[in-house]
Amino acid sequence: MKKAGRYKDRQEMVSRQILCRRIKDSAVIDAFLEVPRHLFVPNSESKNSYSDSPLPIGRGQTISQPYIAALMTESLGLAPGQKVLEVGTGSGYQAAILACLGAQVYSIERYAFLAKAAENRLLSLGCKVKIKIGDGSEGWQQEAPFDRIIVTAAMPALPQALLDQLTLGGRLVVPLEAESGGQELILAEKISPKEIKKKRLCACIFVPLIGRYGYKE
Ligand code: SAM
Repeated sequence: MKKAGRYKDRQEMVSRQILCRRIKDSAVIDAFLEVPRHLFVPNSESKNSYSDSPLPIGRGQTISQPYIAALMTESLGLAPGQKVLEVGTGSGYQAAILACLGAQVYSIERYAFLAKAAENRLLSLGCKVKIKIGDGSEGWQQEAPFDRIIVTAAMPALPQALLDQLTLGGRLVVPLEAESGGQELILAEKISPKEIKKKRLCACIFVPLIGRYGYKE
């Protein structure tokens, strides 16, 4: 990835927001040190780029809080060369982190405006990510199966269409509507075609995924 300044800001972000919340995977930590988050936010938010919060990126959407992005990334347990599908490209930041970890990244975004901007950003940084405009709740059948799937918008229930596009032993991280109200981040592992092991990671707040297997607009 091309060098892009503000390394000290990233060091501070990593030590105050990520390491102290028990993210341990050194490759994940290195990726958060490397990817220039300030290039993924609108100019008006540049001063807040490394703050401990999500930020607006236009069309009512957000770039996720760094810690939540790090927790989701670590939970994927990604190995270099694995094929990953991201649903919800947004700014392209999470996709850049995954590419930095050596994954083959496929990402779907419903807003063409965001998808194009993310594609240009990723290209200019030298990150290889394949982006498609569409409804990511249906997955990306032509490119399936995926070793890992990360959904960065909230869904009402565990998405069968995405589980079907996961390899055996594959992992899916997704924010889901919780029974008690609110949302929770879930890690699902495909043990066999019919057996899914689920683990609750934490409470979370994500924008809704709008689509066939998501919410209605
Ligand atoms: N991963 C992003 C990043 O690093 O900036 C943040 C994603 S933002 C929290 C959620 C994104 O999901 C938004 O850009 C939104 O437009 C997108 N989205 C919502 N429903 C979608 C769908 N059905 N398919 C694809 N993207 C969707």
